[in-house]
Amino acid sequence: MAEAVRFKCDTCGHAIEAWSDGNPYYINDAGEKEYAYHPDHERLDRCIGNDSPHLCLNCGEEFMVDSEHPIQKCPKCKESKIVDTFLLDGHLCPFCSGGTFGKDPDFFCIS
Ligand SMILES: [Zn+2]
Ligand SMILES: [Zn+2]
Repeated sequence: MAEAVRFKCDTCGHAIEAWSDGNPYYINDAGEKEYAYHPDHERLDRCIGNDSPHLCLNCGEEFMVDSEHPIQKCPKCKESKIVDTFLLDGHLCPFCSGGTFGKDPDFFCIS
């Protein structure tokens, strides 16, 4: 079961949605990466890795981090201030450089 939350900046209102389990993927017969979408449990069982969305707290770039090939730095600005979007609660907003992300209480869903 996956859980989604939305984090919202208390100053500029920039919102980012995040899923608790990222994007599990498997390698298909052609050797290509394919995502297993919910609720495809047969495919989920074959998954070997997970791409989880991250946010750069320096430049605001959103990108995927592959659990099999993790990166420690933002691909755009090369800063190491990156955070899993699901763990954004309490972090400083890179879009207005003044606000803080907090959980949006009006948004909650489960798949
Ligand atoms: Zn902001
Ligand atoms: Zn960056």
